Amino acid sequence: MQVPTQIKPAYKAYALNNFRNIPQLERLSESEQWAIEVVGNVLPFKVNNYVIDELIDWDNYRTDPIFNLTFPNREMLLPEHFAEMEQTLKNTNDRNLIKETSHHIRLQLNPHPAGQVELNMPEIEGIKLTGIQHKYRETLLFFPSSGQTCHSYCTFCFRWPQFVGMNEIKFAMRETDLLIKYLEQHQEVTDILFTGGDPMIMKFEVFRQYIEPFLEDNRTNIQTIRIGTKSLAFWPYKFIDDEEAGKFLDLFERVTSRGINLAFMSHFNHPNEMRTPAVKQAIRRLRNTGLQIRTQSPLLRNINDNPQAWAEMWREQVNQNCIPYYMFVARDTGAKHYFEVPLVRAWEIFREAYKSVSGLCRTVRGPSMSATPGKVQILGVSEVAGQKVLTLRFLQGRNPDWVGRPFFAEYNDKATWLSDLKPAFGDDKFFFEEELESMYHEKMDSMLSDN
Ligand SMILES: *Cc1c(COP(=O)(O)O)cnc(C)c1O
Ligand code: SF4
Repeated sequence: MQVPTQIKPAYKAYALNNFRNIPQLERLSESEQWAIEVVGNVLPFKVNNYVIDELIDWDNYRTDPIFNLTFPNREMLLPEHFAEMEQTLKNTNDRNLIKETSHHIRLQLNPHPAGQVELNMPEIEGIKLTGIQHKYRETLLFFPSSGQTCHSYCTFCFRWPQFVGMNEIKFAMRETDLLIKYLEQHQEVTDILFTGGDPMIMKFEVFRQYIEPFLEDNRTNIQTIRIGTKSLAFWPYKFIDDEEAGKFLDLFERVTSRGINLAFMSHFNHPNEMRTPAVKQAIRRLRNTGLQIRTQSPLLRNINDNPQAWAEMWREQVNQNCIPYYMFVARDTGAKHYFEVPLVRAWEIFREAYKSVSGLCRTVRGPSMSATPGKVQILGVSEVAGQKVLTLRFLQGRNPDWVGRPFFAEYNDKATWLSDLKPAFGDDKFFFEEELESMYHEKMDSMLSDN
């Protein structure tokens, strides 16, 4: 297949202050535009010209998955929240009052499970490493401070973009210093996963500060560098056309030629994101550096809640040499009620898609919930000792010994999360719960005695 070289357009982004300038927007009714204004004051909203011009089918925008992925609509807020924001916008132009209302609504959308962040945040020499989460033994999650925004925002996501400081390069160096120190002391960690936001929002000069220390002498045991990114779906031109793109590709090649496995953990939510000439070319160029592309996505109602979308997406990924990796159950979503799919239905969609593709696509695992104790996969609905149950297992556990043991929950076709499930056969607790509680208490005790 010959792919002609793509010419990079200038990057143009739209958000609340200028979205009415999007040329295609005249297709929307006045009330749809108003809904963007109202909902966009609560959920994240930013969309760029690649998404608008190359991904969305404007003739069918109402049902278009990428339109729903990036443009807010009325149903994404509960009616009472919509009314509250709408009233505020009608009553005032005062930015502070509007912000207060947004804040008030957001608090009700995303209650952070208490202590979750602290439970995973390590320390070194008494300094809390705020950009690091170390939950699973082998893999460290790292949030570089310059990578906490994205090329466009997904309406289902609640990672509020943070303001990026002024001297990014210096900050990146200091941050990486501590990171390397921590990794030198933790030889069990073989994988580092850069995440965000989107680390591929960074300029090359900043990004290289984070990667180059791994190419120099260090005593870490890092064997894989993973980059969690949605850039291939939202701005594939990052890797096409100009000098900056070339520098990224050279750096990637330097990493892989050192014998370090470099993996893009690439977020794709729909097969339409795999089909543009730009994404095809970006994937080819990246693959030529020796890096691997693994793919993942949450299952989202109104975007990809049908087996055909997944089967097509996995096939297209394998055709382009990408490796399907995870199907996640959506959670922590501001617009949870709009996007959520019950666990039993999620499993049905997974199975329908999985059984219709070749074995090369079946590297994918799911549906998986990233819950407090670990990543829990729904293996399916079974009947055990005359009872209908859900069979589950850990793909990752806070205690690695939990991984891979099947366990059972009472059948429940409404449940959308692990916390909605009850142990089967009249047990009071799942096998891991007592240990999880004591881990939690230990951590809380040590934090209290520190302060
Ligand atoms: C998913 C995840 C990882 C990576 O797990 P893998 O199964 O190795 O992909 C690491 N840390 C956290 C906190 C995660 O949620
Ligand atoms: S962090 Fe990922 S899921 Fe969230 S808005 Fe950015 S690209 Fe989308």
